Amino acid sequence: MANKISRRSFLKIGGTVGTGAAVGLSASPSKVKAAVKRNPQNIERIPSVCEQCFWRCGIIATVEDGVLKYIEGNPLNPNNRGRICARGNAGVALLYETDRLKNPMIRDGERGSGKWKEVSWEQALDYTAEKLLAVTKKYGVEANALFSHASSGEHFNNLYNYLGSPNQAAPSFAQCRGSQEVGFELTFGENIGSPERVDLANAKVITLIGSHLGENVHTGQLLDFTEGIAKGAQVITVDPRYSTAASKSKWWLPIKPGTDTALLLAWTNEIIKQKGYDEKFVRDNTVGFSELTDHVKDFTPEWAEKITEIPANIIRETAKAMIDAKPAVVIHPGRHVAWYGNDVQRERAISILVAILGTWGQKGGYFLKSAFPYSYNALNIPDAPVPKRQRVDGAGYKYPFGSVEEGLTQELVKATISQKPYPIKSWLTVAQNVFNSIPNQADTKKAIDNLDFFGVVEVRPTEPTWYADVVLPEDIYLERYDSLFTVTGWHKPYVALRQPVVKRVYNTRPGWWIAKELGNRLGLSAFYPYNDFEDVLKYQLKGSGISYTKLQKDGVVTFPGKQYLNPGESYAFNTPDKKVHLYSKELKDLSFDPIPKYEPVNDPPKGYFRLLYGRMPVHTQGDTESNPWLNTLISEPHLWINETIARSMGLENGQEVNLENQDGMKTDKLKIMTTPGMRPDAVFFPHGFGGNDKGLLNFSRARVSDNILITKYNVDPISGSTGLRVNFVRLIKDGKILSPTVEVSFTGVNAKKNSGIRQEEQNRTFNIQPKKKASAIREGC
Ligand code: SF4
Repeated sequence: MANKISRRSFLKIGGTVGTGAAVGLSASPSKVKAAVKRNPQNIERIPSVCEQCFWRCGIIATVEDGVLKYIEGNPLNPNNRGRICARGNAGVALLYETDRLKNPMIRDGERGSGKWKEVSWEQALDYTAEKLLAVTKKYGVEANALFSHASSGEHFNNLYNYLGSPNQAAPSFAQCRGSQEVGFELTFGENIGSPERVDLANAKVITLIGSHLGENVHTGQLLDFTEGIAKGAQVITVDPRYSTAASKSKWWLPIKPGTDTALLLAWTNEIIKQKGYDEKFVRDNTVGFSELTDHVKDFTPEWAEKITEIPANIIRETAKAMIDAKPAVVIHPGRHVAWYGNDVQRERAISILVAILGTWGQKGGYFLKSAFPYSYNALNIPDAPVPKRQRVDGAGYKYPFGSVEEGLTQELVKATISQKPYPIKSWLTVAQNVFNSIPNQADTKKAIDNLDFFGVVEVRPTEPTWYADVVLPEDIYLERYDSLFTVTGWHKPYVALRQPVVKRVYNTRPGWWIAKELGNRLGLSAFYPYNDFEDVLKYQLKGSGISYTKLQKDGVVTFPGKQYLNPGESYAFNTPDKKVHLYSKELKDLSFDPIPKYEPVNDPPKGYFRLLYGRMPVHTQGDTESNPWLNTLISEPHLWINETIARSMGLENGQEVNLENQDGMKTDKLKIMTTPGMRPDAVFFPHGFGGNDKGLLNFSRARVSDNILITKYNVDPISGSTGLRVNFVRLIKDGKILSPTVEVSFTGVNAKKNSGIRQEEQNRTFNIQPKKKASAIREGC
């Protein structure tokens, strides 16, 4: 018998109402606590793979009498080498978190009314399948759209492929690294994968342009970064904010936001002019060097200084550092690169520098990628049908380099609003918070209002859950299997296994099982010729020479690979002519610029600041904000603002303000952090933190999400990726709009000499000079 659930009790549902199918598999937290003994009889150490973020470190879970006590890094995993971050440790708290979704539920009131009834898994799956079939019958199978993310997403991508709907999208492309992949693919014929194939540990110069390593903690890469610094690598950090990485850098270049391509072109100009490029690599492996030389001839450091506000001498000095260190130079391509809507060209400019410095396949540069010989289809699963109608998001046609695997989320939202070119009538979201990952929340809500059916697969409540017609609660990563994780471009190639470390705590199910059960109900049983996901994993390893038993025991198996080219060895790039494309005919043929050029972006209107956002080290956006352990460390992110500017508005560090963007969207109160290390024309806030549904998210003290303010975005015409840093905000205190009464000059410096300095010295270092408001021109140094 189904139980009615109120808004408040939504959060309190325990594991005690499980269906018959769940009995024996799950254990409620109270039972778990009762099982804990002072002297445990049975202590197990089980390897698996973390998913508190996408980096997927190897972990070892210590389980005492069935209770997870501790998570540490797996020393055998070449990625994180025995280390994990705070979020990895805090997986224990996620497992037993009381805010988790605990039972399947079906809506029992108006959509968004917060009324559900708990149901059995049978009922929830039958209901979901029935709705998807009804949409299919009325509008065609393509009217069913999927928004997926993370490891679970793959199981549902397969389901929708088997179903025949091409309308699938994940934010990992359009809102994150899509333009980076396209930029590198256009140049080298291959992207640099994840983890990015950068040999930071052996680099002599590390250039970070759009990467705040240390705040975006990706353990393996951070280990390499610190090793590189310990070995003497010089770091150049290009960032409008004095980030943690900037504090470890020899040069901090506080660039004017939106002008990075000008700096990259000036570096290219200087490197070519000084003949500092790798002549042999350029001669033997590239096409378009003479066009490139001609293209950048006027983009001098002096030209770039006027645009970027980085002094020409610093641009020359940093170019010289890269010339001297080549080929052991990493120019990190960044990860979240969806900035201004011209991002493929910025990433192309980075990849061109990477190419002419000859760093590909070189120690201290970029790793090669190795092959891994296992089959994804060893189970003889039939081929998925070819979709009958073209996908609605424009990936691959309107946006020629938009990913047809990951899709374009915002375009799928737009098509659901317009119902063109054909109706989109059902959404299933899997591990994706469509409100906090896709820009313009009002559009997302409008699209959901157009749906006949909206289902959510999640591990904990998020804003979309509140509007769901059905909630399918998923096992967390510590309770389930997922596909094998294979990394081929790293110090050592490896394959790692995620396996359950404990019995499930609540009445949840793994993603692979939910997808398979839905598939069976949708007439797709032929695609699921297995009962258990372990069967799939074992079949995938057939013929690879890797033992599944060893994987279970160690959590990871390495295999031979090649990271670097031998001296003089040639390399066949994955382009039609096997060459690196400094000049891209592919782009030219599609009427795009064959070599990147700088395109100005709008400055903030008077009284407004550009909204910049990024990561913080102990949270993975909204994914971890309810984690009690992590909230003990940081529960309330602050808005970074230049201290001179703040003071001129009568604000002191720690005071609360509201933000309002150019479209009148206002936030709740948030605290400010004043610092000399922030450009005066921008503010910075950690991304994705704080839901805006007060009824749903009962844990967060700060209910401010930067995504509320991201109402505007530019779309990259090449990739379809969204540029999100085009929003401006002003500060409001006690209902009064604040406006800076000074202007501040701000320039690049040799940061390392001054690291750990006192406040007055920082002010000198950053060349912060309050000036009269009337002054229209900001001075360089
Ligand atoms: S970096 Fe931290 S959160 Fe991410 S996978 Fe590794 S341990 Fe987990």
